[in-house]
Amino acid sequence: MLLGAIADDFTGATDLANTLVGQGMPAVQVIGVPDKDFDPGEAAAVIVALKTRTAPVGEAVRQSVAALDWLRSRGAQQFFFKYCSTFDSTDAGNIGPVNDALLDALGADFTIACPAFPANGRTLYKGYLYVGDELLNESGMKDHPLTPMTDANLLRVLSRQTPFGVGLIDMNTVGAGVDAIRAAAGALKADGVRHALVDAISDADLVAIGGAAQDLELITGGSGVALGLPDNFRRAGLLDPAIAPALPTIQGRAAVLAGSCSRATRDQIARAQDHWPSYYLDPLAFTDNTAEHALAWADDQNTDTPVLIYSSAEPDAVAKAQAKLGTDNAGALVETAMGAIAAGLCRRGVRQLIVAGGETSGAVVQALGITGLRIGPEIDPGVPWTETLGGPAMALALKSGNFGAPDFFIKALAMLDDA
Ligand code: ADP
Repeated sequence: MLLGAIADDFTGATDLANTLVGQGMPAVQVIGVPDKDFDPGEAAAVIVALKTRTAPVGEAVRQSVAALDWLRSRGAQQFFFKYCSTFDSTDAGNIGPVNDALLDALGADFTIACPAFPANGRTLYKGYLYVGDELLNESGMKDHPLTPMTDANLLRVLSRQTPFGVGLIDMNTVGAGVDAIRAAAGALKADGVRHALVDAISDADLVAIGGAAQDLELITGGSGVALGLPDNFRRAGLLDPAIAPALPTIQGRAAVLAGSCSRATRDQIARAQDHWPSYYLDPLAFTDNTAEHALAWADDQNTDTPVLIYSSAEPDAVAKAQAKLGTDNAGALVETAMGAIAAGLCRRGVRQLIVAGGETSGAVVQALGITGLRIGPEIDPGVPWTETLGGPAMALALKSGNFGAPDFFIKALAMLDDA
């Protein structure tokens, strides 16, 4: 293992893993801090997915340091703390406190903080974070229910989260390239700065920043700043030339579980219904036997054809279910049922599974007892095929609701047929 990463949420971990695999670095995502004997295989990068973004500070620090300890025990040479490209945090943390705790644990005294992800419109200029054309505090992030971002100046934001010095390597320096960035980092460090925000407005900036970070024990930021890291290891002779990730070759029945109500997922369902049998889970008709009924329906289908089970509904129907059942309760009912259905499908021989929806994916992974994922090739931007490590052997595609083209489900399973 070369790079050991810690992500503060599940889809953030997948995003980072996918970025590294895209640069030809074999990567595995593990769910929570693994047992001592968990084997990540041949992965050059391992990303531990935590759920600490909005956890109490002490808990976020404890879990992050536990993840670091595990990664160190497996020989990782450089460490990465991945947080959201919109710097999701509060004055209490958790970005500053976790950065500080990881530095302390590593005996290091300097790191960079670079949330920029220009491909998704997140750019940092003079220390101000933009979301598309808007400053962070003028974007939708100002109304986030858990981490409202009301200040776009990350020097101020991060200074409120750490007692140590915060500095900036600005665009003029970043534009001048790797040596200039490295020299600026050295000067800030000599001035007692512990956290250096780094401007970036393009992927070329991120690659230069990654190059300049070659000797840092800890790098922190969004997934974008990882773009340049695989080449550092190659230049050092530690990593093979870019390796194309292999598709999972696991054979078995195929199924799609969709709990996302996003437009993209609803369009994907409509497209798949032209080809495969489907079963609708209506939260307003839920009973204790809902999962069993869905599984009995699956038993009646031809095992050669994928089955699609979905709760996804139009906004009106979702609002009705939420009004009657309560928003959280409706979500929890569907997630519990999806978990039970996934476990039941697995017992019936399903080995190729696509799940649509971030929370739905979390519920399914937990119900299946999966502890790790080897990251395979990308199906559509941001969504790779993965192969399970720990738990039942399966090919698994976990899709955030809004991702993927209308033919996503069909295309994804066709890729496995060609494997
Ligand atoms: P996305 O990635 O699109 O946000 P998620 O799975 O994260 O999808 O979130 C969708 C949430 O909506 C889940 O909690 C799910 O259980 C819930 N849900 C799914 N279908 C319905 C429905 N018909 N009515 C109400 N809530 C639903």
